[in-house]
Amino acid sequence: MIIELKTIEDADQVMKAVNDKKLEHVFQHKNRVGFVDQKALGDVPFEINNVKEVITDHPAALQASRLFHPENTIIKTQHSVIGDGSFALIAGPDSIESEEHVQLMGKDVKESGATLLRGGSFKPRTNPYSFQGLGEQGLKWHREAADKLGMDMVTEIMDTRDLEMVDKYTDIFQIGTRNMQNFALLKAVGQTDKPVVLKRGMSATIDDLLNASEYIAAGGNHQIILMERGIRTFDNKYTRNTFDVSAIPVLKDLTHYPVIGDPSHAAGVTKFVEPIGLAAAAAGADGLMVEIHNHPKEAFVDGKQALTPAQFDHLAKVATKIHNLVKEAD
Ligand code: PEP
Repeated sequence: MIIELKTIEDADQVMKAVNDKKLEHVFQHKNRVGFVDQKALGDVPFEINNVKEVITDHPAALQASRLFHPENTIIKTQHSVIGDGSFALIAGPDSIESEEHVQLMGKDVKESGATLLRGGSFKPRTNPYSFQGLGEQGLKWHREAADKLGMDMVTEIMDTRDLEMVDKYTDIFQIGTRNMQNFALLKAVGQTDKPVVLKRGMSATIDDLLNASEYIAAGGNHQIILMERGIRTFDNKYTRNTFDVSAIPVLKDLTHYPVIGDPSHAAGVTKFVEPIGLAAAAAGADGLMVEIHNHPKEAFVDGKQALTPAQFDHLAKVATKIHNLVKEAD
């Protein structure tokens, strides 16, 4: 249940009453108050408040919902703004390979307009004997490259035990597809004050994704960026996953969080990364996350889906044009 009060002061008054009664899972956004447990409503003295509207159709992921929080959430980091109508570009190698390599890749993607430098130092690999990432050494090199280039760092965290370490270096936490429902990890990043890129689980529904985001929001961290990266379907013979392009407008409709497309993990092969990325831009994504490598065949991880810096440059330019066209036509 969401109630809209006439003024913020009225909502504050309801929250005070709620806090006095120690009711749980009641949230305020401006002059809206959302109750997860509808029965709790009976315990609140409404007669003292100015109720403007009662919005009964409340979704499970209350804080993610536009009913609760109608205006777009805009995420601001030192060098980037995501969700303000501009087109954000997160790019870099799949994994941090060396000090020189992350600097070189960062320089290239920055020249193409990326303001966020991605790269994994903790890699979620299907096979335990595959390269697992450089750990803290990789984080250090990644941080240094981002600082040197004036970019923001985005890196994956896989384990709550690494929180303090990753937090020391990164600007934005990335939760990967395999950990979308790692609730302990979601709660842990929910306690931080840094933005979180939450990737859709490869077999997760849109509601699963929204409920996962709610674990972060429930901890008090509302700086959430949702990411569509492809899902498993009956036909993943020609692409690694199926990019659910429809998830983009649906998420933009249901939630106020920015939505970014990751065409690299959806495609799995270089030649389909650009068309999928362009489709994401046309569908209304707030940006893209793309993997690049100067020598894809030598990449430590996922070279088959890497774009060269020149290919990324092309994608970045065309996708941004499409994004601007869609915005203009609105
Ligand atoms: C990644 O972005 O590095 C990654 C491993 O992606 P995903 O979790 O979508 O597989």
